[in-house]
Amino acid sequence: MMVDVLVVGAGPAGLSAGLSANRAGLETTVLEAESVGGELVNRNTIENLPGHPPVSGTELRSTFVEQFRAAGGSITLGTVERVYDDDPFRVTTTGAEYRSRSVVLATGGVPTSLGVPGEETFTGRGVFRCATCDGPLYAGKTVAVAGSSDWAATDALFLTNHADRVVLIEPGDRLDAGDPLRDRLVDNPTVDVRTRTEITEIQGEDVLKRLQLVDRDDGREYAESVGGLYVQQGIDPATDAFSDVVSLTDRGEVVVDAGLETDTSGIFAAGDVRQSSPRTVAAAIGDGTTAAHSAVSYVERTR
Ligand SMILES: Cc1cc2nc3c(=O)[nH]c(=O)nc-3n(C[C@H](O)[C@H](O)[C@H](O)COP(=O)(O)OP(=O)(O)OC[C@H]3O[C@@H](n4cnc5c(N)ncnc54)[C@H](O)[C@@H]3O)c2cc1C
Repeated sequence: MMVDVLVVGAGPAGLSAGLSANRAGLETTVLEAESVGGELVNRNTIENLPGHPPVSGTELRSTFVEQFRAAGGSITLGTVERVYDDDPFRVTTTGAEYRSRSVVLATGGVPTSLGVPGEETFTGRGVFRCATCDGPLYAGKTVAVAGSSDWAATDALFLTNHADRVVLIEPGDRLDAGDPLRDRLVDNPTVDVRTRTEITEIQGEDVLKRLQLVDRDDGREYAESVGGLYVQQGIDPATDAFSDVVSLTDRGEVVVDAGLETDTSGIFAAGDVRQSSPRTVAAAIGDGTTAAHSAVSYVERTR
């Protein structure tokens, strides 16, 4: 199949790129590996979208998809396995091959793992990565949260709606979350904030039972009984399918210029996957628009 713009990933960045490219009259396809909406499907409430009252991720996703389909856009399920720098670009998925005059990479990221013993064993058996999906399973229990960014803090507060106690564990000296969220965490009697504390092992039998922790102040090692551990230590950009076609920063993000073009002419990157992304829904939407605008100019220039 030959298109003008092929978008990899249907999160807010990819949907926004697809919408803009479609509206510009270009033949566009969006490929999505898992769930249309990307990270939106895991978000309980998005409070920081300018010009929009607080909205649930799934509601925003529906609006996006309706708008995209109304503009004539199509989304195809398929994991992109490889992007080739051929002329035109060649993109392969598990069962198909696409040709495109330009490509927008909007693959977001995968959650950064803790890298401690037991994490793999208990993933899905107490260790979880989506608070909205799995939080209700921990009603009446103690849940730990690893991480203290704005997003970890938001989800820790969401978990207080279900769990009896939420232990927030941060190895650094202070919480990374900004002031308003930090205050909400510290003031919430259900949240037990532990800074300068590291998780060294995740233990259990069939399911997760306890965490081994170290207090960095005095080196004391102790066990904390928990029913679940929510890991929210940020994300690693998802670039496996194209890491040999575009340059990456030493943090694995796609290097882009001001028009979000990579160092391979005709390939653009948008959203969480690109260098210096603010990693918000608003930024991803803006990126999608910018990348599509650049892709449209590229296609018109080189057609
Ligand atoms: C816990 C948490 C809470 C957050 N809360 C907020 C918030 O309240 N407000 C806010 O503004 N932002 C929030 N964010 C950030 C926001 O979710 C992201 O910035 C935004 O989703 C990024 O959009 P994206 O399209 O770049 O990537 P994503 O939303 O990650 O979408 C990428 C898509 O690409 C797909 N994909 C990946 N690889 C491939 C492949 N090889 N082939 C095909 N498809 C592929 C993925 O399946 C996914 O659907 C939060 C993030 C987290 C982790």
